[in-house]
Amino acid sequence: MGRVAAYHGKNRDVYHNHSDCWDGNNIEKRNLVKGTGGKKQCSTCANLFKK
Ligand SMILES: [Zn+2]
Repeated sequence: MGRVAAYHGKNRDVYHNHSDCWDGNNIEKRNLVKGTGGKKQCSTCANLFKK
């Protein structure tokens, strides 16, 4: 798996764009929002892309 369309959670200060990010996958569906929301990339996602 790998890159997915950017999404973020309401009340979170980062966005996610990797399918294997545990933090992103923890966001409840009702809190999911598409896009970056002008936020920073999640550090977990960033590390996943380095593998
Ligand atoms: Zn992430």
